[in-house]
Amino acid sequence: MFPQDLKEKYKDWYNDTYLKKKNLFESLSKEGQSPKYIIISCVDSRVDPNSIFKSEPGELLVHRNIANIVPPYDYITEHSGTIAAIEFGITVLNIKNIIVMGHSGCGGIKNGFQMCKDDGFNSNSSISNWLNLLKPAYKKIDSSRDEDSIKELEKISIKTSLENLKSYPFIQERINNKEINIYGSWINIGSGQIETLNFNTASFQPL
Ligand SMILES: [Zn+2]
Repeated sequence: MFPQDLKEKYKDWYNDTYLKKKNLFESLSKEGQSPKYIIISCVDSRVDPNSIFKSEPGELLVHRNIANIVPPYDYITEHSGTIAAIEFGITVLNIKNIIVMGHSGCGGIKNGFQMCKDDGFNSNSSISNWLNLLKPAYKKIDSSRDEDSIKELEKISIKTSLENLKSYPFIQERINNKEINIYGSWINIGSGQIETLNFNTASFQPL
């Protein structure tokens, strides 16, 4: 029927969170959502933007994919799920802020790194096709240092995703008109420390 542990957790959520915030949920139900931020993060179960930013229901539009990648504009027909979520957030919900959030120990980045390094892409695998998107970021790093190179790719790929974001016409237009802001961030899962991208120095700095 349904997993017992989830059933129990749901009941806890209903009796605790839902009932305490009943009015909020009812008004969100009537008025719809108006989130302030779009967050693109990884599917990794250890990285949950709603938990990290202690968000209330309706505050964050979160889209998660493997390795928090925003594909380039050319990929709009092939990898449209991510950009469709962003387009919805920007053009329909009128959200003004987009955050790409990476993390330490990202399995997607690690696998993509190896695939790039070994030229080991397999066109029959959806994971492989998706991680192929990391190639442009991979080309920007020194790939000879293994663990350190993978860490570097985690951050460089965030920058590449932000550049890709800017290539979408509906985003480019709003950036030119100073209507939206974009941000890069990365969280160290073990220490809980977040770093954010400083566009002036092009480096990540602790928050
Ligand atoms: Zn990840």
